[in-house]
This record gives sequence, C-alpha cells and structure tokens, in this order.
Amino acid sequence: MEINLVSDTVTKPTPEMLQYMFTAQVGDDVYKQDPTVIALEKRVASLFGMEAALFFPSGTMANQTAIKLHTQPGEQLIADKWAHVFNYEGGGVAFNSGVSCSLLDGQRGMITAKQVASAITDPAFYHSPLTSLVCVENTTNKGGGACYDLPELRNIKSVCDAHQLKFHLDGARIWNAMVAKKENPKQYGELFDTISVCLSKGLGAPIGSLLLSDAQTIRRALRIRKQLGGGMRQVGYLAAAGLYALDYHIDRLADDHRRAKELGEQLATLSWVSIVEPIETNIVIFSIQPTLNENSVMDYLKQKGIAISNMGHGKMRLVTHLDYKEVMHTYVLETLAKISL
Ligand SMILES: *Cc1c(COP(=O)(O)O)cnc(C)c1O
Repeated sequence: MEINLVSDTVTKPTPEMLQYMFTAQVGDDVYKQDPTVIALEKRVASLFGMEAALFFPSGTMANQTAIKLHTQPGEQLIADKWAHVFNYEGGGVAFNSGVSCSLLDGQRGMITAKQVASAITDPAFYHSPLTSLVCVENTTNKGGGACYDLPELRNIKSVCDAHQLKFHLDGARIWNAMVAKKENPKQYGELFDTISVCLSKGLGAPIGSLLLSDAQTIRRALRIRKQLGGGMRQVGYLAAAGLYALDYHIDRLADDHRRAKELGEQLATLSWVSIVEPIETNIVIFSIQPTLNENSVMDYLKQKGIAISNMGHGKMRLVTHLDYKEVMHTYVLETLAKISL
C-alpha cells in the first residue's frame, strides 16, 4: 500500500470526476467563449455573494494578481510571517508588484486586528513605504490548518476600512475552514475585497483556482492574468473538475478532519513524539523528541509505504485528503503505534 500524506495536493481525479471532465462543453476561454469556465466562475462568485470570479491555473497566480490589483510599486502589504504569499510564491510580491512585506509575528499563521493596526505606516511620513493591503490566510498552511474566528476577521476589516487598506483572503483551504467552523461562504464574501480559492487542494481537482471580487476589479484582474501569462484556451475540461468537486467533495472534508484528529490523538500517546500541535482541519504537525533523528522516522515510515513531510527542526507534517481512505487510515494508526526507533 502506498500512502501519501505529504500534501492534500497529491490527489488524482476520481473516475467520476474524469467522466464529468470528458463530457464538458468547451470553447476558447481567452475569447471568453468557454461555457464551462463561465459556469464555474458564476457559480463560485455567487456562492460567496461576490459579483464576479476569474479562473486561474494556480493559487499563486490568483494571489499574485490580487496583490497587483491592490498595490503600486514601492508600497507595502501586511501579512503573517508564515504567509504563503511571502514564503512560497517565489518572491512574486517583489517581482510582479514591486511591493515589500511587513510581517507580523502571529499565532499559527494568524494575525490580529491589533497587530495589523500597529504595522500600518503613517501615510504622512513619506520616508516609509505606504501600506496599502492586508493579506490573511484561512486555513493557514504553515500554521497547521488553523482557522480564524470570524469576529477577528471583522475586526481586521474595520482596521482596513479606517485606514483605506484593501483586504485579501488567501483562501486556498477556505473550504476546510468553512466545514470545520460551520461557516457560510457569504460571511467571507462580505468581508474581503478579493478572495482566492483553490480547487486542487482538499477538493481533489487536478488544477484550478479562482479569484473573486466585484465585477470592475475582475475586469482589471483579467488584464493582469494575461500579463502573467495565464490566459487559457479550452479549459472547460479543467473547470468541469472544479464544478464536480464543488458538488461532491466539500462535505466529505469532515472525514479528512476526523482522520487528522485521530492521527493526532494516536501521535500524542507515543513516547517518541514530544508535541502535537492543535488540529482544527486536515493538517497534523508534530515534533519528535530532540534526541531522535527526523530521518529515522521518515525512513521507518517509508519502508512501511507511508510518505510524510519533514519540516526541519524536528517537526513533521501529515495532511489528510480525498485519496487517504479509511483502510489506509487504520493501517497508518497501527503502524504509528508499532514504530520502534
Ligand atoms: C497551496 C496554497 C496556495 C496556492 O498554491 P498553488 O500551488 O499555486 O495552487 C496559496 N496559498 C496557500 C495558503 C496555499 O496553501
């Protein structure tokens, strides 16, 4: 049995999803003539109560487009020090938008309204970069799938409004947050200027993200996507995977969350594990005893057909997903219990 717990991006389309993709109606989306892409964009926009959406090949491109929309070169955005937009988008913030990042020392990748307020530069003090944007992530990636409380996001929104800052949500795993917290997408739509969402993480589509906003902003985003090289042709085949995932793969995220919690509970009982971080969604981060070597854990599990990630500094990560089935889960729980190092 090959079990890959490295990421929720390792899933492959199910036979049903592939079947649905094969039957998609397509056209040239660069001419805005792909009915399936248009249907997906309309569907996700209306789900969040936003006017419009644009289909992207990656979450990175959707985030980078949002940053470009809301900033001018020389300005600064505020984000947590672990933010994907800062750490994992190839320095695109500087490359694409000429923007610097003011990084906050948040909790598990989440920042507070108070921290945001304290990081805004005085616009009259022309020596500093002008602050124009706040980016938050929900759930947090490096923060181990932690979810914000909506009241805190509303407080950050008030700070943004008071200082005329734009507010962007990197919602690559927003589906996980909404399932875990029993929230409604419209509660997010009303808070943010732009939201990016991924179809290729927990939802199991092979590719695809969307950027959501008001109609005028999405018209501007279309030009930026073009400049970034993101115009695509008969991508209704891929959008179809997203439509299928929205119908069939959202509610089941609760299974991923349960399995992640069970993995965490098992790990917490083991003598070679020192800390299991709180588990809110589908990401499990744990640390091993300082006397142990990470590679010995990785190697042991690899021999048993289980792949996980080594985050360095004694931290390891497991991510549950669509292709991690109950039989695999039972086997992983048993294997972890039997590990001898
Ligand atoms: C995965 C991810 C993205 C986008 O990633 P792509 O691989 O470019 O689709 C953005 N933000 C977060 C928090 C992510 O986890």
